[in-house]
Amino acid sequence: MRFDKFVQPKNLKTALEILKKDPKSVILGGTTFLRISDKNYSTGIDLSALGLKYIKEVGDQIEIGAYTSLRTLETDPIINKYFGKLVPKSLENLIGVQFRNNATIGGAIFGRLGFTEIITALLVLDCELEFEENGLVPFSEFISNWKIKRDILKKIIIKKNKGKCSYKMMRNSSSDFTILSVAVSNFDKIRIAVGTRPAIATLSIKAAQLINSDKNKIEEAANLIAEEFKFGKDLRAEGKYRKMIAPVLVKRALQEVLK
Ligand SMILES: Cc1cc2nc3c(=O)[nH]c(=O)nc-3n(C[C@H](O)[C@H](O)[C@H](O)COP(=O)(O)OP(=O)(O)OC[C@H]3O[C@@H](n4cnc5c(N)ncnc54)[C@H](O)[C@@H]3O)c2cc1C
Repeated sequence: MRFDKFVQPKNLKTALEILKKDPKSVILGGTTFLRISDKNYSTGIDLSALGLKYIKEVGDQIEIGAYTSLRTLETDPIINKYFGKLVPKSLENLIGVQFRNNATIGGAIFGRLGFTEIITALLVLDCELEFEENGLVPFSEFISNWKIKRDILKKIIIKKNKGKCSYKMMRNSSSDFTILSVAVSNFDKIRIAVGTRPAIATLSIKAAQLINSDKNKIEEAANLIAEEFKFGKDLRAEGKYRKMIAPVLVKRALQEVLK
């Protein structure tokens, strides 16, 4: 990545104006992903002076500033109090602590990369995103359609639900990209998300319906995952292999949240 000019706006309004006025400008998160690309940008818009680094409880919600590092999120007591190991498990294998100290939650979400595990995890929570221009957008809507391309993500809002969550993944070796990621939550109902197929994570409809209709049908619901989703191939695994391991990971996660 290269850019001709670096700016550090003092407020979000100015940051958005620069982004909208100049189609070749780019928002800078921790730049962990941006810097491995070979693209040229006109202006790099740094968000570090905008007060977007925080995790706080606000009534029945948790708010996370978009510039918060993945490492802060991974170790935060508030997040871990409500969602158990769901969030830290989806982050702990990402390269190393130094990398996660740099990478931001805003960059991880806005990048919408298929292998970003925190996307799988957040899909099973009641989660909304707040953008400077587009306002509040449900997390699943942002992930499933690519309508929002140029805006600034300000914060992530998660409802404090009580219940169990589980995160499972498969990777060839520690700190490599995942081959498959699975998240399950059991709040008012069971939600199942499957990601890194290698496509980006999506929520299950059929398997979730089945397990919500009868909590004893763990095996059947897990097997249905193989039919419900499409599994593709990449450098790390064949689609066939992903299809075989998906029911196993979903079964383990369902057993955990229904214990
Ligand atoms: C080598 C490598 C290995 C990885 N391995 C894994 C892995 O195993 N598991 C996993 O889950 N993930 C993995 N990742 C993905 C990683 O989670 C994301 O790339 C990283 O978190 C991006 O964060 P960042 O803050 O550095 O984003 P940046 O690189 O700064 O930005 C990414 C994108 O988001 C945009 N952006 C950033 N912040 C905002 C904002 N607030 N509003 C609007 N747009 C914004 C940028 O313009 C850019 O388009 C890996 C990435 C790399 C580079």
